[in-house]
Amino acid sequence: MQGETKNIIQEESAKRTLDVLVVGSGPAGLSAAVYAKRASMSVKVVEKMYMGTGQVAESGRVDNYLGLPGMNGYEMGEVFRSHAQEFDVPFLEGEVCRFEKSRDCDCWIVKLSNGEVQKARAIIYAAGAKHRHLGVPGEEEFGGRGVSYCAVCDGAFYRGKSVVVAGGGDTALDDALYLSELCEKVYLVHRRDKFRGAAATLEKLRQKENVEIITSAVIKEILGDKRVQSVALADGRCLAVSGIFIAVGMIPETECVKEIVALDESGYIVADETGRTNKDGFFAAGDVRTKQLRQVITAVSDGANAAISAAEYLRNK
Ligand code: NAP
Repeated sequence: MQGETKNIIQEESAKRTLDVLVVGSGPAGLSAAVYAKRASMSVKVVEKMYMGTGQVAESGRVDNYLGLPGMNGYEMGEVFRSHAQEFDVPFLEGEVCRFEKSRDCDCWIVKLSNGEVQKARAIIYAAGAKHRHLGVPGEEEFGGRGVSYCAVCDGAFYRGKSVVVAGGGDTALDDALYLSELCEKVYLVHRRDKFRGAAATLEKLRQKENVEIITSAVIKEILGDKRVQSVALADGRCLAVSGIFIAVGMIPETECVKEIVALDESGYIVADETGRTNKDGFFAAGDVRTKQLRQVITAVSDGANAAISAAEYLRNK
């Protein structure tokens, strides 16, 4: 290739190469995008779900985000998203299926499941986590027919009915409280006698007449005909319910990066609050990284930190 033509092609390719590609449009990804834009970087956000805002949208009420007490989680997600839109952040619908580091452009080549390819000099990976399943008979069979992983999304279908909430963390406690306002009866079933979730929420649940807390109980099977009709416990008890909300934690969305960056034994990307991973130019933010506290407020601050780290990385290159 003639030298001049090659230079033009390289310049064109460089123009199409983003400074930062953010993967995930939850609080961490949106915050990263806002900070990246404000640092004058070219940025795009890849989102798995059109107009998605991540897990926050599933929270009925977020009580611990400074300055916005008691805000509905869905509305909070919309507020975050509109902030990013005010900065003209472009969104791209698709699921990332492959990352490759290219020596030619000194950038990441990112392939999406819809066939699109994006090039970026730095990645901020903020893909969050997905719902863990109980893994009991009936769970997959009755998916969408009595088995749910989102009380805020599906709770209204169970108005006046009896339901089980499985789990002992904040999500299970929040879900049980939310459902207690809609359902006739809520059984909160936890495998241990100690709860991980907030003591204040547990106390509120104890005051509710229509909530029964069953501890040290293992769910054995979800039973029904066309829809869920009961939940069987390992000790022989059988709870007659129309639905079960499974809130037994999350699994980090790290399948597509497990060959690229270091993960801890639970599958989270090893990164500190700067977001730096063991791979140059690849940053992690939000629930997907190793951290002590996975909350909206820490995800937002992760996004900011990762964007600033990415800016510093690009400046030093
Ligand atoms: P989590 O804190 O990991 O709790 C998961 C719960 O499910 C634990 O009680 C665990 O039992 C139980 N569990 C796990 N696997 C199970 C299985 N196979 N069978 C039965 N039970 C099982 O998850 P989370 O509640 O989704 O919360 C995730 C993070 O988000 C946490 O950091 C939480 O604080 C945060 N969050 C905060 C808020 C809030 O601040 N309002 C709301 C939602 C979530 P063990 O206790 O026995 O391990």
